[in-house]
Amino acid sequence: MNNLKYLEKQVEQLKEDGVYRTLPINEGPCDNRISLNGKEVVNLSSNNYLGLATHPQVEEAAIEAVKKYGAGTGSVRTIVGNQAPLEELEVLLAEFKREEAVTVFQSGLNCNIGAIQAIVNKGDLIISDELNHASIIDGVRLSRADKAIYKHSDMEDLEGILKEKRDDYNNVLIITDGVFSMDGDLAKLPKIVELAKKYNCLTYVDDAHGSGVLGENGRGTVDHFHLHGQVDFIIGTLSKAIGVIGGYVASKKVVKEWLLHRGRPLLFSTALPPAAIGAIIQSVKLLMNSTEYTDQLWDNARYFKNKLEKLGFDIGHSETPITPVMVGKEDLTMKFSKRLLEEGVFVSAIVFPTVPKNTGRLRCMISAAHTKEDLDFAVETMEKVGKELKII
Ligand SMILES: *Cc1c(COP(=O)(O)O)cnc(C)c1O
Repeated sequence: MNNLKYLEKQVEQLKEDGVYRTLPINEGPCDNRISLNGKEVVNLSSNNYLGLATHPQVEEAAIEAVKKYGAGTGSVRTIVGNQAPLEELEVLLAEFKREEAVTVFQSGLNCNIGAIQAIVNKGDLIISDELNHASIIDGVRLSRADKAIYKHSDMEDLEGILKEKRDDYNNVLIITDGVFSMDGDLAKLPKIVELAKKYNCLTYVDDAHGSGVLGENGRGTVDHFHLHGQVDFIIGTLSKAIGVIGGYVASKKVVKEWLLHRGRPLLFSTALPPAAIGAIIQSVKLLMNSTEYTDQLWDNARYFKNKLEKLGFDIGHSETPITPVMVGKEDLTMKFSKRLLEEGVFVSAIVFPTVPKNTGRLRCMISAAHTKEDLDFAVETMEKVGKELKII
């Protein structure tokens, strides 16, 4: 008897649909150039925006933290997992984000699935942008609130929902990504905050791709729009620009007090290990002390975008270092990515169902770790393959 036949069938279906995949193996650290399945390639696919994942001081801080605090925390935060460096990190992050308090979770995903369900209840409504990240969608599902979805960044649609539904609910929570990761566009945060005030709603911004990228020293989208004190829940990740792992909620102190009692990942899953915390503290300090990393990131992004545009590529309407190269058809997008990899450039193809049909694109992730030589090589290769496939 084979109980798992149903899974075998489903996997077979993936193969028939041409979407079955095996995972590429990165044989070294995540850097500007990586050894992928044994081949050296320029890496245009990581979220390591500032190159901090391999910064010598960050690596050293991880090692020091292990020597002092061990490899694991031994428990959830609410029992004995709340080691001193974690408390130190939360104070540092609150200062960095210019908010009253910060609560650190084990990842950005954890943060969304833990925080959203903790802060809403039956009788509340969540209004969410249609392009919000999967972890927000999961967080909303786990909550007991009702939900409504507005068209991507469509403020009229959002206001329409508010007009129609606001009065039927206790609390209404508007949730948006700060930076949308597939197109690199920003949420219309000033308008969202204005509507939230007008209709007496709470606001929740997931700034995973804005933290370490936008605002003064990478303080994020809220800082970029000068909206400090006006967004109720600001989520950041420590896994992308910060280069390590983890997520956090920056907020008023009372939110932290509540999350420490009702944020389920903090109560039921072991706290982040000392190596991670030590490394994160060092990363955040580097960011606070210098604009060198964010300056380099934006300089690289402008350089790269400029060259692609001159070649005639359609690079969408990104407002951040995320650089989509629009292709259209799914199979052509996949082919472009595959050919680039053969030529030494790794850039992921993003196709339906992650983005709408016929809007396939390559998503180039620029980092401060890239040298101009890396970017020149990537652009030249994209020109060559782009012409070969008649994309330009
Ligand atoms: C990447 C991302 C997350 C998940 O963050 P992790 O720390 O990798 O779990 C959550 N929200 C958004 C918007 C993201 O882009």
